[in-house]
Amino acid sequence: MSMSTITQDQVREALKQVPYPGFNRDIVSFGMVKTIQIDDNDIKVLVSLQTRDANVPKQIFQGAKTALHNLPGANQVDVNFDIKDPGEAGGAAASAVGKAVIPGVKHVIAIASGKGGVGKSTVATNLAVALQQQGVRVGLCDCDLYGPSVAHMFGSNERPNATEDNEIIPIEVDGLKMISMGFLLEDRSPVIVRGPMATRYIQQFLKQVAWGELDYLILDLPPGTGDIQLTIVQTTTLSGAVIVTTPQEVALIDARKGAAMFSKVNVPVLGVIENMSYFLCPSDGVKYPIFGEGGGAREAHSLEVPLLGQIPIDIAAREGGDNGRPIAYTSPENSETSATFAAIAKSLVATCHSPTS
Ligand code: ADP
Repeated sequence: MSMSTITQDQVREALKQVPYPGFNRDIVSFGMVKTIQIDDNDIKVLVSLQTRDANVPKQIFQGAKTALHNLPGANQVDVNFDIKDPGEAGGAAASAVGKAVIPGVKHVIAIASGKGGVGKSTVATNLAVALQQQGVRVGLCDCDLYGPSVAHMFGSNERPNATEDNEIIPIEVDGLKMISMGFLLEDRSPVIVRGPMATRYIQQFLKQVAWGELDYLILDLPPGTGDIQLTIVQTTTLSGAVIVTTPQEVALIDARKGAAMFSKVNVPVLGVIENMSYFLCPSDGVKYPIFGEGGGAREAHSLEVPLLGQIPIDIAAREGGDNGRPIAYTSPENSETSATFAAIAKSLVATCHSPTS
């Protein structure tokens, strides 16, 4: 190995100046830079992408070349790509069925958690409302086969209809389109919809909903990182994932598994949302860290992604979920929780400001 004055860290820093086309985030923070080799100040990097748009590698190539040539002492600069077709990202399983590119939908964002009960569905529903209040068109798909339906969280008992072509028409509450996978299982025993059956069912489902034109589709994934979750992230073209956790260490360990799952299928983690961060006592205004402190921030730091927000433990948020009126409908001036969701929605819109292809 010959002498190099350039370090891995310098290369990584330089590549942080290269945005992923269509996003305000760089290729390093998206986890796309897989390897960096430096030999005698010759720099070789491997960038892993999941796209069908030839302009994406082209723009990254030019950006990376320029950034690396600007490093003092840089000799030869090699930027290589490992490009996967979005339809093949999940390997054999996904390519066998073809990835569900949802027509008319610009950004699909998965909301994930390592375990149940951390408030993932609460976050998904409120985020959908908060995004809609940013003036964008939003859909919400509850991918839990067995849980209660998301329409219920919006106080709707409506049943979805189908078009003549057998497409499912989402339910609409105040302009927000929503559907739950569980809807279509009603007359079947959940016992038979396990393993490969569940996988096939979900693939079918994701292709069958008539969303129309949407800026954002929020997928509320079932908790955990099992086959069903993997199938969804493998077979849908996702813009990114958001991981919900509580400040507790146990929840964090599970959140890491979630992050690992997305990295395996090259889906960027857009950030971490910490839920139940503190209880804001209405009588004395003091913030009590019931489940500990700093967990979300540590997790975001170790994943090199932003901490998108910290949601307080809020009685009104729980009541909103039970009463069919998510807290995000409350004016942000009157609710810290609602204000936090609004801020998260704003930062997500800023991250995904335009479609990539
Ligand atoms: P998950 O989808 O992770 O299983 P849920 O969103 O269903 O979790 O939340 C579990 C319970 O906790 C629900 O009753 C919900 O209303 C409540 N909950 C979630 N987040 C909060 C919060 N920030 N403050 C108060 N209650 C919450």
